Amino acid sequence: MKTSSYSAPEQSGFKFDNSYAKLASKLYQKQKPEAARNPNLLLLNHALAKTLGLNVQALEKEGAEYLGGNALYATAEPIAQAYAGHQFGGFNMLGDGRAVLLGEHITPDNKRFDIQLKGSGRTAYSRSGDGRAALAPMLREYIISEAMHALGIPTTRSLAVVTTGEMVYRDDAYPGAVLTRVASSHIRIGTFQYASALQDRQLLAELADYTIHRHFPEIAAAENKYARLLEKVIDLQASLIAKWMQVGFIHGVMNTDNMSICGETIDYGPCAFMNNYDPGTVFSSIDSKGRYAFGNQAPIAHWNLYRFAETLLPLINTDEDQSIVTAKELLEAFPARFLAYWLAGMRHKLGLFNQEQGDLELVEDLLMYMQKNNADYTNTFRSLGKELLKTMQIYHDAGFKNWLQAWEARLSRQQENFAQSLTLMDRTNPAIIPRNHLVEDAISAAVDQQTLQPLEQLLSAITAPYSTDAVHSKFTQPPEPSFDIHYKTFCGT
Ligand code: AMP
Ligand code: MG
Repeated sequence: MKTSSYSAPEQSGFKFDNSYAKLASKLYQKQKPEAARNPNLLLLNHALAKTLGLNVQALEKEGAEYLGGNALYATAEPIAQAYAGHQFGGFNMLGDGRAVLLGEHITPDNKRFDIQLKGSGRTAYSRSGDGRAALAPMLREYIISEAMHALGIPTTRSLAVVTTGEMVYRDDAYPGAVLTRVASSHIRIGTFQYASALQDRQLLAELADYTIHRHFPEIAAAENKYARLLEKVIDLQASLIAKWMQVGFIHGVMNTDNMSICGETIDYGPCAFMNNYDPGTVFSSIDSKGRYAFGNQAPIAHWNLYRFAETLLPLINTDEDQSIVTAKELLEAFPARFLAYWLAGMRHKLGLFNQEQGDLELVEDLLMYMQKNNADYTNTFRSLGKELLKTMQIYHDAGFKNWLQAWEARLSRQQENFAQSLTLMDRTNPAIIPRNHLVEDAISAAVDQQTLQPLEQLLSAITAPYSTDAVHSKFTQPPEPSFDIHYKTFCGT
């Protein structure tokens, strides 16, 4: 490893405290990042750096070396974390095969964040992989995760992208890169599955206690804290997936190793945003059966939660039958919880402040008309109640016109006036999502033409998704219909 040419690297402001590296050693392997041949800091997220209490100027100077893997902060204790996972339904023992956790950064306001380098070389869990990542998928993760954050959806975030100056070899040769990922933690459903598969109850309890202490301290003294842990994770997943559904986000690879316990969206691979509303939408090249289709995300989250609950059975009660009864009861509440979160969000998308019996039907009818008319999910919601709607094809559907009348009648049955509804809707219905064709254009300009301007423009648009002056910008235009038919996303592995 090269030594740093910077005399005071701590000037960047990273303050690492590494609690995960103090857990039982079965949960990780000590692992330094591999050096990159010619690291170059391509992107630095200034806003995030400031939120984390970091010094942007120092990061600009030292980022290439430290966030590319060539130099190590003195207080970092890098590890690769072990986990397992059901990948498309099949169970595998996994782990960070191409990432290392540098440590947990403590912000000036005392918040704890994992700082992880993704694409930083081989680890004990790399199996046959090279431990590296290509630039394009790392830019994709940067763009989509920052868009999700701006949309108010819990997510890991992206601090930087450093190009390595090396090629990675997949179906072809691509420039390599390292993404610095920031997360509330990287504890996954798969982390619990890993401890469970080792059949080591003590390890499992240690992981569960750590998770409770780190994410849910309010249940530490509860009567059955492990049942409460399950309940918390169920609730966070229900809330998270509801938020995805409200903006048309398709994760694309909801394997249990890609589901974070603390309820953040994690592991952006073949993810994409839907244009035309269709619950069957799938873009991932490897999801041939549509397991992770847009409309299947809540049932799949539920399936994943069953896998999580199974790991907790030995902790919930010493009597396994009793554990199963408790876990089942909590799991069976998921669909109703999901529906409640989803409907609450959809009410806001329709400008509704209060609740009525018929609201679910009202929402479902709108979605039905959107699907029938190949209507753009984002733009239809954003145009409701505005002149713009009249320019859209769906407006010529007589059934939809009836629906509009029913909606207007529904609006009139609440205290708030129409202007208040529009304000609520403009805060809830984004004008701008990271549309696939724009994401691809920006990435290809950065990777193939070495020009960052389209990417920077896209980032500034998607980080202000509710902006009211964006209506006619190119960022709100759906692609030609033929684009989606052929569009495929890849895991980027
Ligand atoms: P993902 O599809 O990115 O969620 O990755 C699934 C598993 O494969 C994880 O354990 C990754 O660490 C591992 N993996 C993905 N790409 C590579 C790679 N290039 N080298 C080593 N391991 C990898
Ligand atoms: Mg993953």
